[in-house]
Amino acid sequence: MNAPFKNLIAGDWVEGSSTNANINPSNTKDVVGEYVRASKAQAEEAIAAARAAFPAWSRSTPQERYEILKKASDEILARKDELGRLLSREEGKTLPEGVGETVRAGQIFAFFAGECLRLSGEKLASVRPGVEVDMTREPVGVIGMITPWNFPIAIPSWKIAPALAYGNTVVFKPADLVPGCAWAIVDILHRAGLPKGVLNLVMGRGSEVGQAILEHKDVDAITFTGSVPTGRKVAAAAVAGARMKKLQLEMGGKNPLVVLDDADLKVAVEVAVNGAFFSTGQRCTASSRLIVQAGIHDKFVEACVERLKGLVIDDALKAGTHIGPVVDQNQLDQDLKYIAIAKEEGGKLAWGGEVLTRETPGFYLQPALITETTNQMRISREEVFGPVANVIRVKDYDEALQLANDTEFGLSAGICTSSLKYATHFKRNSEAGMVMVNLPTAGVDYHVPFGGRKGSSYGSREQGAYAREFYTTVKTAYTFAG
Ligand code: NAD
Repeated sequence: MNAPFKNLIAGDWVEGSSTNANINPSNTKDVVGEYVRASKAQAEEAIAAARAAFPAWSRSTPQERYEILKKASDEILARKDELGRLLSREEGKTLPEGVGETVRAGQIFAFFAGECLRLSGEKLASVRPGVEVDMTREPVGVIGMITPWNFPIAIPSWKIAPALAYGNTVVFKPADLVPGCAWAIVDILHRAGLPKGVLNLVMGRGSEVGQAILEHKDVDAITFTGSVPTGRKVAAAAVAGARMKKLQLEMGGKNPLVVLDDADLKVAVEVAVNGAFFSTGQRCTASSRLIVQAGIHDKFVEACVERLKGLVIDDALKAGTHIGPVVDQNQLDQDLKYIAIAKEEGGKLAWGGEVLTRETPGFYLQPALITETTNQMRISREEVFGPVANVIRVKDYDEALQLANDTEFGLSAGICTSSLKYATHFKRNSEAGMVMVNLPTAGVDYHVPFGGRKGSSYGSREQGAYAREFYTTVKTAYTFAG
């Protein structure tokens, strides 16, 4: 298709009200592509198309849905290198990370293709003689999807695949910064044979297109991934109308990684550096708070700094790059602001924090490790969303657990220890949705539930078979056969 890349409404590729240049954060002179932005009226047309397509799609056979999702999976996997490259070029994570995320998207579509055929119900005898009770799951209706920029292909996939598998229709608004991968998967699904209006793409701004989806009476449910402040607005708007929308929010984190004295130092350093800094630290599950026991603290910090010194921060598409650029100038400013705040509050910059110059103009930042921090400082309490982590020294496991849980967030938490006792206790007592032992807080499987607690999440889990909680609604039917 010739640029600009268009929106898909009611099965047709349509022009927008303006265009958006998709800029490569590794090289701001490189325009990945021009993508149209939808108007509010077009978002409304997309919702009407999804509403019109719902009766037929919700009654399509599981085989029909299976074949479309499987075809999409096959194409995503066959094009993993090309799509992974597009992802790295528009978002800035390294090429291996971009290809890895693309493969995951393909696996997600394959998993939910299978789910089309596995959706089951229950049957119970009634407490009344001769009566039977069936409990079946039905699609919810029109799903509005609003996604962030940091996983441009995986997050749209883990929302679109279950929505379609369980018979819903979709109006999808990706993040303005990364329209490329969003467009590519919609194109793949469209060509895989989705009927008109089942999946609609409305690229554009949150305040215009996103808001139109939130406010529309014909949208039955909203699935949102993004920051806490936007999540709050989404929640308020979604329940404001006459018919309150079903709602699922996945938001930020301030994920703790506890390192105990008995940890294997090498493992702990790998887990911490990977969890905190890979993907440029731009993961909701990043290990941004490193809570380290006094006996291993100095050795751990020293080894982390050595490891960080060896990392190559450069163009995401270059072979050998370990960490790509920050996504844009706003995010870079935010990262630098928090490094400055941490220093003002008494933190010590053990490594990094410098803006780097490379061959091409981009948003390069040396990963920053800040020591001598407390859990009360802003750097410990607020999400930075960049390659910035702070270390908090603690005397023992009890203090580590208490600080790990002392946060408004509750997405992911980790512990590095060789003690079965502490590992088991931590898994049971961590107030996070996902807990990792001797593994990075970021990095999860696609076939099991994903999500958090407390201020990080609202509503039911995403991914795996648990996704059916959000994308289906239960019907209880009674029969007296006489
Ligand atoms: P964001 O909240 O700025 O934007 C997310 C989406 O909401 C975008 O598509 C944006 O256009 C849209 N939006 C903005 N204002 C809106 C409005 N008024 N109405 C409707 N939509 C609106 O987040 P971001 O900067 O794109 O992503 C980073 C954030 O996402 C971080 O906080 C990160 O932790 C979070 N995140 C969470 C998870 C998770 O699963 N928990 C995963 C990835 C990212």
